[in-house]
Amino acid sequence: MKLTNINKYFGNKHVLKNTTLDFPAGQTTVMVGPSGSGKSTILRSLNLLVIPESGQYDFGKHHLDFSHKVSNKTKLAIRRETGMVFQDYNLFPNKTVLQNITEGPIQVLKQPKQAAIRNAQKLLVKVGLANYGDAYPHELSGGQAQRVAIARALAMNPKYILLDEPTSALDPELELSVLKVLSQLAAERQSMVIVTHNMIFAKRVADRIIFVENGEILYDGTPEEFFAVNNPNQRIKNFISSMT
Ligand code: ADP
Ligand code: MG
Repeated sequence: MKLTNINKYFGNKHVLKNTTLDFPAGQTTVMVGPSGSGKSTILRSLNLLVIPESGQYDFGKHHLDFSHKVSNKTKLAIRRETGMVFQDYNLFPNKTVLQNITEGPIQVLKQPKQAAIRNAQKLLVKVGLANYGDAYPHELSGGQAQRVAIARALAMNPKYILLDEPTSALDPELELSVLKVLSQLAAERQSMVIVTHNMIFAKRVADRIIFVENGEILYDGTPEEFFAVNNPNQRIKNFISSMT
């Protein structure tokens, strides 16, 4: 998936400035940068929760030019192919874990109920929650809830999974349980875009690092070069040392 020369304004604030970014399939792209720099806006543009004012978006068979209106049909199609995982999980509180995961596949993808349940059970094994199908969200820890949210995203069989600070609300031990699942997905070459403040995780899991500051891409390259002690970019070095 690729964004080309996109511009996004909120009121008269120019948040994304002619941004061009490629998110290769089968890779984990990690976006880092100070708060308010535009990371969520980029991520949300990828699933059209945010619609930029101009620029192009190429994703599979979709070729969008944001200077034209994006149809609802295209929005739905792209949202279906990009599973979004939010910081605060957004689980349905009155549905069980299993129902949270099967809702989309049954309602949207029209999967037969039994097939959706079987697949959900496999995904629960994958995220380390095999026995939690009948639990309700309020009975889960934050780390468990976030793993359910990841299973729910995977159940829709999206081309990409987009994660916006998936562990920012979690204590360190709970964070680890989620990062383990994401590392496993990365090892399986699941296409992912992750926004995180966890530099150790970023270094370990990223195929590519994007550093965003003030709506501009100051770095787009390998984690090795980004984290290198001899990185000549003092701004990046300062950022990394402030985060670790
Ligand atoms: P990040 O995720 O890097 O913290 P965001 O993409 O959320 O940054 O925000 C970038 C800038 O856009 C910030 O200045 C923020 O206040 C502004 N912004 C984001 N979303 C909205 C919105 N819905 N309405 C107005 N301003 C917004
Ligand atoms: Mg954000």
